Amino acid sequence: MTVHGGDVEPVPPEDAHGRGGEDGARPYEMVVVGSVNADLVVRVDRRPAPGETVIGSDLVTHPGGKGANQAVAAARLGARVALLGRIGSDGHGEFLHKALAGDGVGLGHLVETPGPSGVALITVGADGDNSIIVSPGVNARLSEDDVAAAAGLLASARVVSLQLESPLAAVLAAARTAARVVFNLSPPAVVPDELLALCDPLVVNEHEAAFLLGGRGAPGSQARALLALGPRSVVLTLGAGGAVVAEPGGVIEVPSPRVEAVDTTGAGDAFTGALAWRLAGGDDLATATAFAVRVGAASVRRPGAQSSYPYPEDLEAL
Ligand code: ATP
Repeated sequence: MTVHGGDVEPVPPEDAHGRGGEDGARPYEMVVVGSVNADLVVRVDRRPAPGETVIGSDLVTHPGGKGANQAVAAARLGARVALLGRIGSDGHGEFLHKALAGDGVGLGHLVETPGPSGVALITVGADGDNSIIVSPGVNARLSEDDVAAAAGLLASARVVSLQLESPLAAVLAAARTAARVVFNLSPPAVVPDELLALCDPLVVNEHEAAFLLGGRGAPGSQARALLALGPRSVVLTLGAGGAVVAEPGGVIEVPSPRVEAVDTTGAGDAFTGALAWRLAGGDDLATATAFAVRVGAASVRRPGAQSSYPYPEDLEAL
């Protein structure tokens, strides 16, 4: 697949097994199960207190959603990736579908559904940090039946990447079908031990780690404590601090390149999409994480989520 400078070689339609089309194209190496949202973004000098109004920048609409973001991050790097999810029948749905197709993501299991698309209301502060409210729309209708209908697609992928902007029942069903699960526990929620035990790795940021562990601590000990909850491996992301990897054999720190952060929206999704792709390609977890921190760092240098995601040549300077 070539996705570069608008020169897009279309992904062939899937057959019943979720494989490539009649031309014998390779099967999808990774599948993302997750959300597709329109990101409605306003920059502000400061956020309003309750009851207060502040004036922000012009509204900008970007394609987003944790599932779509991960798929696009991987596709831009060269992955053959499919997305299983639901997309609304409104104008946002049309915009989002077009954006995903333009990035070469396999959309044979992206189900158009009557109703509003998912929307994320995002404010970006002067420091580049973001605050987000998600309205799930039809993402909330992703079902176990949708997962069953894509069983062949999921089973043929080397890695299935999951997050929690989709219903837990569908996420768990997908995890049970997958050869290898990369699970980003975001937004944080209580999940069954069965799901944690299938993660290889569980990917969390510092807030999500604190949610799971009931408090904060040094990253290395947090990562070890997360591993004790049952996943096969853990990646704890630390923003500008990079990431910590915990496996039964030990814990390692992976620093991030230093960059000027303009907008961190979607950095975690860029990181996780890149990580899942490299794991699908056979990298060990430390090597895949060392690659993923570069992709995460590259993504914070530009505004937006998908709009900031790098192509391979963007990583050279890092
Ligand atoms: P977000 O919610 O903003 O999408 P997140 O909180 O899930 O992100 P982070 O830990 O903030 O995840 O970032 C993920 C990865 O992105 C980090 O491990 C790092 O590689 C990269 N990254 C994020 N912020 C920065 C930064 N300011 N400088 C360099 N790299 C960064």
